[in-house]
Amino acid sequence: MIFLTKGKLVTLAEAVVQEMTRFATSPESSREAGGILLGHRRGPHVEILRCTIPLPKDRRTRFGFVRQDKGHQEAATRDWLESGGVVYFVGEWHTHPERRPTPSWIDRRSWRKQMTGRGRDPLVFIIVGSAAVYCEIGVDGQLATMGRVSALAGNIS
Ligand SMILES: [Zn+2]
Repeated sequence: MIFLTKGKLVTLAEAVVQEMTRFATSPESSREAGGILLGHRRGPHVEILRCTIPLPKDRRTRFGFVRQDKGHQEAATRDWLESGGVVYFVGEWHTHPERRPTPSWIDRRSWRKQMTGRGRDPLVFIIVGSAAVYCEIGVDGQLATMGRVSALAGNIS
């Protein structure tokens, strides 16, 4: 899956899309899910190669996901070491119980907080709905939407 806006490219490996989409469809979709995104950056572009999925200590509710299991950070560290520093934390994802997801103010507040102190390194924020995937990118403390892509095929916004 590819997001392209204003010269910035975000690509998601197909296995990542499938893994995330599984949590946006029944029966998993009765509670929100999420995890972190692992991959690498090339200039303003981000390539997402792997993601983590909900772990036992995360909090999943109908309208919320709080990542609090230490396993996500451990997975990031393990991938970084095993890849010789090529694969690392590049953002996060979560699901919404809607077809075409839109970020809440709580999402944007949380994303802004995560960008603090990261300078020019882009971070990717993904929301997965049952029919589309929404992407936002944060660079230099600024969030910019990359739009939505249909979970089936093609850009729908
Ligand atoms: Zn949200």
